[in-house]
Amino acid sequence: DDTPKYSGMVEGCCCDYETVDRLNEEVLYPSLQELVRTPFFRYFKVKLWCDCPFWPDDGMCRLRDCSVCECPDNEFPESFKKPRILSSEAFVCQEGKPQATVDRTVDRKAFKGWTEVDNPWTNDDETDDAEMTYVNLQLNPERYTGYTGPSARRIWDAVYSENCPKYPSEELCQEERILYKLISGLHSSISIHIAADYLIDESKNLWGQNLSLLYDRVLRYPDRVRNLYFTYLFVLRAVTKATEYLEHAEYDTGNVNEDLKTQSLMKQLLFNSKLQAACPLPFDEAKLWKGHKGPKLKQQIQKQFRNISALMDCVGCEKCRLWGKLQVLGLGTALKILFSGDDHQEHSSLDLQRNEVIALMNLLNRLSESVKFVHEVGPSAETTMEGQ
Ligand code: FAD
Repeated sequence: DDTPKYSGMVEGCCCDYETVDRLNEEVLYPSLQELVRTPFFRYFKVKLWCDCPFWPDDGMCRLRDCSVCECPDNEFPESFKKPRILSSEAFVCQEGKPQATVDRTVDRKAFKGWTEVDNPWTNDDETDDAEMTYVNLQLNPERYTGYTGPSARRIWDAVYSENCPKYPSEELCQEERILYKLISGLHSSISIHIAADYLIDESKNLWGQNLSLLYDRVLRYPDRVRNLYFTYLFVLRAVTKATEYLEHAEYDTGNVNEDLKTQSLMKQLLFNSKLQAACPLPFDEAKLWKGHKGPKLKQQIQKQFRNISALMDCVGCEKCRLWGKLQVLGLGTALKILFSGDDHQEHSSLDLQRNEVIALMNLLNRLSESVKFVHEVGPSAETTMEGQ
């Protein structure tokens, strides 16, 4: 049987699997890879050290690689830095690894033209400056960290319990299933990143792909792959819906050449003719949240989503917490974009924060990497694993 395993339309979306794979490879993946390396997109503001509101901290980091280390870098112009004198000895980089950088010297002045307000979709309060730091995402890649066991399991269980048990499965309506699919798609993506960048041999510090992990956690459950594609298109649609906002946003970090590049990469993505021709509407949100249940549903999903966001404070591994928080904020931002405004208003009311835009685009990039990996490596991994 030559029929591809994933064919036809991505469930609930307006594009088929083949088109998504092609567009991802030709357009989205290359642009996003470049975009997330620009200074604007690689600094994420985050509260990393915080108490779990639900149970005592039981962090279980087996590997050093679990930590996000703190030390300054010199990428930002001095004028953007906090006016305090910091000696470089004040920062001891773990294992002398300057590449895992949290930069406490950058402050909000670095990002002109952005306001910081509470975000109803997430639990983090970005205005709480004292406890927030900037993390260079490029230097803290999402990959295997050794974070496993009951601590990690408890988070996922709690995240899923925010959706599933609340609706008897038979009665899950289209909208309510969306939150489940988004979380499951994100979970697949995290597992795929673990499989794509795994510590194969600890004694030799040898990193590589772990295809049996990819198969066991994702490929053997076709629904998890489908949910990944669904989440990808959902987030992509949020980006295209916010085109006007994103086109005119302020990508200023004080580095003129880099900032011009950021702007042009953004335009390249937002106005891509191949994307517009092949998949003009990645997901049709107009079909959703209609009718009298709309506003109540929005409130309900917002509340559940805030709980999921709060759970990220309980992730017992810094690097996982960093990417967990970023990606949950990215999903929250996508939901905010797709939920806000009605058809008549377009979205004059849409107002995004700098951190939301960063989270949204970095999340899209992560999903794009996962889709590419599954598309390229998936079939041979399946053949190998199923033959065993
Ligand atoms: P888990 O991935 O923990 O899954 C738990 C259960 O959830 C499964 O048994 C299954 O019933 C269900 N499930 C699994 N996948 C799906 C899906 N796609 N859709 C629906 N249900 C599913 N570890 C790292 O090494 N690096 C990281 O960067 C990292 N980031 C993390 C971020 C967060 C927010 C969390 C909560 C955990 C993170 N972890 C990370 C840990 C990692 O996700 C796993 O929990 C860990 O590797 C243990 O895996 P597991 O085999 O027990 O299954």
